[in-house]
Amino acid sequence: MRPEALTRAQALERLSAFLPRAGSAYARERNIDPGPEETGHVSRLSPYVRHRLIGEWELARAAEKAHGAAASKFIDEVCWRAYWRGYLEMRPAIWARYMDYLLSDEAETARSGETYRAAIEGRTGIDAFDVWVSELIATGYLHNHARMSFASIWVHTLRLPWQLGAAFFLEHLLDGDEAANTLSWRWVAGLHTPGKVYLASTEAIATCSAGRFRPTGLARNPAPVVIEPPPPVVTLPTAQPAPRAPSVLLVTSEDLGADGFRLAEQPIVGVAALVTGKAPVAAATASVAQTLAQQIGTEVRLFSSRAELESALRSFGTRTLLTSRLPVGLTRAELNAVLNDTGEPIHLFERTRLWDAVAWPAAARGFFAFRPVILHLMALTDPGGFQGRP
Ligand SMILES: Cc1cc2nc3c(=O)[nH]c(=O)nc-3n(C[C@H](O)[C@H](O)[C@H](O)COP(=O)(O)OP(=O)(O)OC[C@H]3O[C@@H](n4cnc5c(N)ncnc54)[C@H](O)[C@@H]3O)c2cc1C
Repeated sequence: MRPEALTRAQALERLSAFLPRAGSAYARERNIDPGPEETGHVSRLSPYVRHRLIGEWELARAAEKAHGAAASKFIDEVCWRAYWRGYLEMRPAIWARYMDYLLSDEAETARSGETYRAAIEGRTGIDAFDVWVSELIATGYLHNHARMSFASIWVHTLRLPWQLGAAFFLEHLLDGDEAANTLSWRWVAGLHTPGKVYLASTEAIATCSAGRFRPTGLARNPAPVVIEPPPPVVTLPTAQPAPRAPSVLLVTSEDLGADGFRLAEQPIVGVAALVTGKAPVAAATASVAQTLAQQIGTEVRLFSSRAELESALRSFGTRTLLTSRLPVGLTRAELNAVLNDTGEPIHLFERTRLWDAVAWPAAARGFFAFRPVILHLMALTDPGGFQGRP
């Protein structure tokens, strides 16, 4: 079930197979999860979208072309990703606090408890939950409704810290996304929308699992919400002009090219790839970098340390890197660790896709307030293009 490498060809094939179901059928059936062996009612494109082997705009436009107004539910869901991304970009403290918690004594104590061990080993005895643990580990994927119910059981029934559940998801999901994952877990725990938690019920799980599960003993009352100080809201950086100096194209798993990097006007002298993450993602990153280097007619160098990057830059004869915008999260932290290591400065230029540049600043409040920007996103001439091109 778990692919060895993710490719754009797989994504396009999956999109074309799913497209007939992206209209009213999606709006009607998307909450029903018939299980991993069935085709189901959702696209399962998230690992490809997450690593930008395909752009959200490609999904949204294909669905609109196929179904017109009936695609609006699918397009909304696709846009949730941009909403969560923008929300976290403007509130990086949420991510920093979550990472700090994972290193805390409190987290260590919870991790050594039997409830946590039983949860991550899928032996809680709770119908559905234990099966979802195996499914998540085996496939790297869970249906949205299973994720919601899983998180609810974790937080409200097992009374485990939401942060440890979010980390468990991030460790196994092939679409593991720092924004969608962290913020969805917080939403379930009652930290996103004041006064709202997501409390899974036996009936909802029975319906949404197409009758496969009927768990009993679920919490009827939510776990207490630990009130936090509101995270400071930061201003998003303005567009950086693309460098005129010869540059090395930096490929990371944050953006594996989607419908192109629009490099025609860029003086690219080499390709470097930060190869990290789960095996299928690392394989996809290396493969995309290799293909790009062939297309540009240059060399590719893979790196995961400062020494390897230094060697690549020496061989390409420049200290300028050009990449797609690296949002808040693990890749950004890994690259920062490499760049901030002692040595001569390396210049990093980040270009933001127009889809993100338009969507992210609109994620200031709730999704309801964000929705009007969807029309604007759908009307962009080249949503996969980059902001501030020369
Ligand atoms: C607790 C929890 C954790 C989650 N963690 C992640 C995560 O790490 N990575 C992730 O991509 N999504 C996450 N989601 C959101 C959602 O569950 C998945 O995006 C969705 O299940 C992916 O399946 P699909 O591709 O079949 O979606 P489809 O329904 O076919 O939707 C198409 C695309 O739209 C986007 N999308 C759909 N629903 C959402 C949503 N609610 N939030 C954000 N994007 C959405 C995805 O890119 C998806 O591929 C999480 C949800 C919950 C409740």
